[in-house]
Amino acid sequence: MIAIYPGSFDPITLGHLDIIERGCRLFDQLIVVVMRNPTKNPLFPVNQRVEQIRHATRHWSNVEVDSFDGLTVTYAKKRGAKMLLRGLRVLSDFEKELQMAHTNKTLADDIETFFLATSSEYSFLSSSLVKEIAKFSGPIDHLVPQAVALDIRQCYAKTPPIASPLIVPETLPILESPPVLWPTEKPSGSVE
Ligand code: ADP
Repeated sequence: MIAIYPGSFDPITLGHLDIIERGCRLFDQLIVVVMRNPTKNPLFPVNQRVEQIRHATRHWSNVEVDSFDGLTVTYAKKRGAKMLLRGLRVLSDFEKELQMAHTNKTLADDIETFFLATSSEYSFLSSSLVKEIAKFSGPIDHLVPQAVALDIRQCYAKTPPIASPLIVPETLPILESPPVLWPTEKPSGSVE
């Protein structure tokens, strides 16, 4: 049986890889599909995410990596897959995933969703958490594959997070003239 594992994977984490490793033992072929999500502003472009996942899954011969711009069920039909694989971590995942599974069932009745519970050591792990830590130069090597950790660090080295407003930059612009006030405003301390 062919299964599809769709997601944003921005970036792929050890939690995703755990689902892929267990999934590829359950199905004849597992296709990991990077879905383009127009509502999210990703850290990595789709093609880079595909390359990162290909590299991380190169040891598993029945795992294929692809990308798609459209509905998951459309991709599944195109590939003749009857199973969608998803991971569950916490209760909030369950609500969202169940709604998605029911929606997909209305779109394609012959395609089932198969849920795998996260391994307990990855139950806290998400792509956004990894990005949050990396943004402030925290350690991420225990959360993502090594090559991905390198890519993330390079990414944030190029665009460091905005400094805290409490830190006064050394190159504060010098005001050459006093700020222009709205005609009705009076500088504080001025006498009528
Ligand atoms: P999406 O944007 O579609 O939620 P994600 O890349 O965040 O895509 O996740 C893809 C799938 O992997 C989802 O089913 C999500 O619940 C699951 N997943 C994410 N992180 C983990 C984890 N640490 N353990 C198990 N499943 C996970």
